[in-house]
Amino acid sequence: MSSAKPIREAEARGPLVGVLGGGQLGRMLALAGLPLGARFLFVDPDPVSPAAEIGEHLALDYAAPEALERLAACDVVTYEFENVPVDAALAIAEKTTLAPSLRALATAQDRWLEKSCFRDLSIPTAPFYNVESPAELSDALVLTGFPAVLKTRRLGYDGKGQRVLRTDAEVAAAVAELGTGGYLLEGFVPFERELSLIGARAPDGSIAFYPLVENHHENGILRLTLAPAPDVSPERQRSAEAHMASLLEHLDYVGVLALELFQVGGRLLANEMAPRVHNSGHFTIEGAVTSQFEQHLRAVLGLPLGSTALYGPAAMLNCIGSLPDPRAVLAVPHAHLHDYGKALRPGRKVGHVTLRAADGGALAERLATLRPLIW
Ligand code: AMP
Repeated sequence: MSSAKPIREAEARGPLVGVLGGGQLGRMLALAGLPLGARFLFVDPDPVSPAAEIGEHLALDYAAPEALERLAACDVVTYEFENVPVDAALAIAEKTTLAPSLRALATAQDRWLEKSCFRDLSIPTAPFYNVESPAELSDALVLTGFPAVLKTRRLGYDGKGQRVLRTDAEVAAAVAELGTGGYLLEGFVPFERELSLIGARAPDGSIAFYPLVENHHENGILRLTLAPAPDVSPERQRSAEAHMASLLEHLDYVGVLALELFQVGGRLLANEMAPRVHNSGHFTIEGAVTSQFEQHLRAVLGLPLGSTALYGPAAMLNCIGSLPDPRAVLAVPHAHLHDYGKALRPGRKVGHVTLRAADGGALAERLATLRPLIW
């Protein structure tokens, strides 16, 4: 069932990009793609999708025959949500170009496959064990000790589908809450901070990376990103880039990839990857020469990758559950408000604010003014 206007003939010149998912990431992709002449078809079962204002929206299941048929007719199909069924993605990949690759999608959907992929590529991680029964969980806990982190293998995001285990009582409670299905048990990482790296690979194999950024979460949800991450040595940036380069090549990746990392004791450990544009890269819309959204489209459309240089230090603050007064936010110099057009609900990402400054001192001052307006 199509909820939006059909594409007018006069518009039908540039490439048609199919997108699985129609959330704010899809909306920002389309906002970046319109100047490139791209047109967008979104498939998202949610009848109220933020991307529907910018492109055509099919409010259908990802695997619905009409959705698959329409997507197969697109020049390229990408995704802004990694939990789309692999079968639907496979059906699309048989008919048109799917980017990022099916292999990237399938790997990112399953924490065991994902961490095993990191291990195979010698990318350091916390110790991790595949756990399918209470007996395997007890055995794995002997190896990790307490605390440990129990995660469902599939469908985890924003801290959902995982519990920190500190006692035997917490083990029983976590298993009861997380339900049956496969798990991953990880050693708890006493990290100093969380970082992420965003990079992109084009079909010709060229690669570009943004500087590492520092991320601050609350209740498992990203609240604040600082870009670039303060105090990152060139060696640390290079080592993170080397790890991501091996992932991009291994997965025959085309598009933007995000890698979430823990910094602990002078080392970087990979936590997870997102085969798509990422919340910690939203600052690039105003903060970098090429935004992550434009970069992703350049990659999947086979266009040259753009410069990933930053204009200066930037911060991104997520608006969670509510939006600030736009007048107050926009009165802060170099603050930019993004309202995703979503219904306001507790715990939901409904917008973000990007802040820029000429130097770290000015950024900290503006941040001090901006923070109380948002949280
Ligand atoms: P994830 O769903 O894997 O992205 O995890 C969400 C958040 O949980 C991360 O951003 C960390 O703050 C925390 N976390 C995940 N895994 C671990 C771990 N092994 N040790 C400590 N904290 C973790």
